[in-house]
Amino acid sequence: MPCIIDKLNSVQQQIDAAAAAAGRPASEITLLAVSKTRPANELRDAYAAGQRHFGENYLQESLEKIEALSELNDITWHFIGPIQSNKTRPIAEHFHWVHSVDRIKIARRLSEQRPDNLAPLNICLQINIDGEESKAGCLPDDAQALADEIATLPNITLRGLMAIPQATSDPEQQANAFRRMQQLLTDLQPSHPDLDTLSMGMSGDMEAAIAQGATIVRIGTAIFGPRDYSNTQK
Ligand SMILES: *Cc1c(COP(=O)(O)O)cnc(C)c1O
Repeated sequence: MPCIIDKLNSVQQQIDAAAAAAGRPASEITLLAVSKTRPANELRDAYAAGQRHFGENYLQESLEKIEALSELNDITWHFIGPIQSNKTRPIAEHFHWVHSVDRIKIARRLSEQRPDNLAPLNICLQINIDGEESKAGCLPDDAQALADEIATLPNITLRGLMAIPQATSDPEQQANAFRRMQQLLTDLQPSHPDLDTLSMGMSGDMEAAIAQGATIVRIGTAIFGPRDYSNTQK
């Protein structure tokens, strides 16, 4: 079984190839290692291989890992999971990025609770790009109003958009959802010129996402292998 360093290298090669195919510099694309359910020692292995950006979904589990790895002080921590409004404080205190903001209440609390001695928290709006009933995210039609409100908050910086499109192995369908995300970002940029982030693409669709302008790809399984949820507490 290949170890984490080999899998990280092969994911980076996939990113490089997809960027080249799209005529983009690979340096525009950040590899976010999605480490939910993985033990701290695996994150340490990834760190030793040069990985610096880690994405976590479950608050309690992530706080334990951030604490366990606190001596690795150049890690950038990204919160990418659903957020309950009574759990915003530890997120505001311990993370550098939050990709899963989909309502103003959460954004307000994150801004209020961001400690003064830290740089503003980087935020992406999570977009329910396929309008799925069961999925988190703000609907595309509501993105402009939400972005306008969030932009007024002092301790967070709106950086861009995040999506988890409907799962499909059809490359055309993958490209279609990511193209709509890229268009939505373009539509927001006249009123929000500093938006520079499209967080999209996972293990199964990173090539399509990069072809449509992804700047952060969120990769779990291709780096760490299949997940075991049996010990997960949310
Ligand atoms: C788990 C997760 C990922 C990673 O998915 P893989 O298919 O394992 O690469 C990416 N983004 C979010 C929001 C996730 O919850």
